[in-house]
Amino acid sequence: MLKYKTFKGGYRFRNFLGQPREQLKELPIPQRVIIPLKQGFGGEVKPLVSPGDKVYAGQIIGRDDENVSSPVHSSVNGEVLKIEKINYFKQEITAIFIEAEPTAEWRPLEGYSADWGKLSPEKIEELIYLSGSASLDKEGIPTRFRSSIISPSEVENLIIHGIGSEIYNLSLRLLLSGKNLFHFIEGIRILKKIFPQAEVHLALNKNFKKLVEEISKITSGFDWLKIYALEPKYPQGYDEMLVPTLLGRPFPYGYSAANIGIVILNTQAVLHVYEAVCEGKPLIERTIALCGEGFRENLHLKVKIGTPLKEIFSPYLRKDKEMRLVLNSLLTGIRLNIFSLPLSRTFSQVIALPENREREFLSFLRLGMRSESYTRTFLSALLRGKKKLNTNIHGEPRPCISCGYCQEVCPVRIIPHLLYRFIERNIIDERLSKYGIFNCLECNLCSFVCPSKLPLAKTIKDGQERLITIGCDRAKCILPYFDLKGLEEYRGIK
Ligand code: SF4
Ligand code: SF4
Repeated sequence: MLKYKTFKGGYRFRNFLGQPREQLKELPIPQRVIIPLKQGFGGEVKPLVSPGDKVYAGQIIGRDDENVSSPVHSSVNGEVLKIEKINYFKQEITAIFIEAEPTAEWRPLEGYSADWGKLSPEKIEELIYLSGSASLDKEGIPTRFRSSIISPSEVENLIIHGIGSEIYNLSLRLLLSGKNLFHFIEGIRILKKIFPQAEVHLALNKNFKKLVEEISKITSGFDWLKIYALEPKYPQGYDEMLVPTLLGRPFPYGYSAANIGIVILNTQAVLHVYEAVCEGKPLIERTIALCGEGFRENLHLKVKIGTPLKEIFSPYLRKDKEMRLVLNSLLTGIRLNIFSLPLSRTFSQVIALPENREREFLSFLRLGMRSESYTRTFLSALLRGKKKLNTNIHGEPRPCISCGYCQEVCPVRIIPHLLYRFIERNIIDERLSKYGIFNCLECNLCSFVCPSKLPLAKTIKDGQERLITIGCDRAKCILPYFDLKGLEEYRGIK
């Protein structure tokens, strides 16, 4: 039965220009790929190749069965040029540089079968692990290999979601178009086979009525599957919000859903599981969206993992203005400064926004028809104009006016302006943890809505760090209430 659910707080982003169209283009094979040996959930793996070695697309070139990790593959046919450390988004990671041949063939994993029902759970786990799909999402997919911090038998709940609550999102309709919808449902059934004891929950965006109805109809005979239609409010797609919304259970903030026996996967991860098991396809390519007005075209691209980001977005980037590029999420993503870095398994979108340094006169008095502001939400919802986004926040921080907006939107119901006042006045003591400072998800929504432009989320993060340096144990605030699984392994990865 379909259930409608949501949570208190949060914010619904609407009507932004620059949303990716439901169009998918395949990028040609790049001349060179750079494969980081740490991608997705888990630690860095050990290289299995040397400079000068010939490799094929789909070949495992890095693996470490001793530690929590998943294998990585060459995404192209070619030759290893060099193996060296790169600075990959503030982490020193070993990467394998491969000169590519312009051939698209890839070699499948051994033992896959489109008739997956005949495969044993052990074989399915092996295919998911060897394909690299086990490293996807925040907790990885547990298999009998060390791909997650818990074992398959410890999974009590599996949550699969396609909400799209960010400002820009991959198109769910595109991901599940045509035969992909069938593959997605088969992917869910495959996962149920390796987690037979788990309850399976599928959470979809309630605005995609036709798709939700279609999936409900196809899966009507699956008495083990619960389907939910969720309000696409930010940050509904966060693990910390999915667990209380769907299961009515508290989340151990600062830890992982796997610590409480829950695995959470997105739509693309389930499709990769299907490809691994039924087609023997290793995780060598990824669908990403080009979002924002900074691109001449907003569309989806299928790209080989390891392709330098510049080669992906440069042909589409507008050249008439300076652009700011952000990876994955506009509110919490990473600003892209070095474009030679490669695409990893975890990237889903590149966002380009025009830089705007000119302050708009009395911006807060405008109707909010063409630009977003929480203070103008009511009018802008009525006017429903397509909104532009740029990088300008139109002003410096001003004193708090006690409007309460930050408190209203905070999804974990803490009081950002109160915490901010304590930290700004250097009052760093246990009261901060009593007021829930360690529950902050770093979703940045409070900073986004604040009309005084106060850096609330950043200050709260600073407050957490200062509290830890004076000896406040974050774990003490969390652990008494939970019986966490895989704690040592999780600490090892963190
Ligand atoms: S960043 Fe933290 S305090 Fe701010 S809205 Fe998100 S969860 Fe609440
Ligand atoms: S949103 Fe900003 S101005 Fe309003 S109460 Fe929060 S901190 Fe103060």
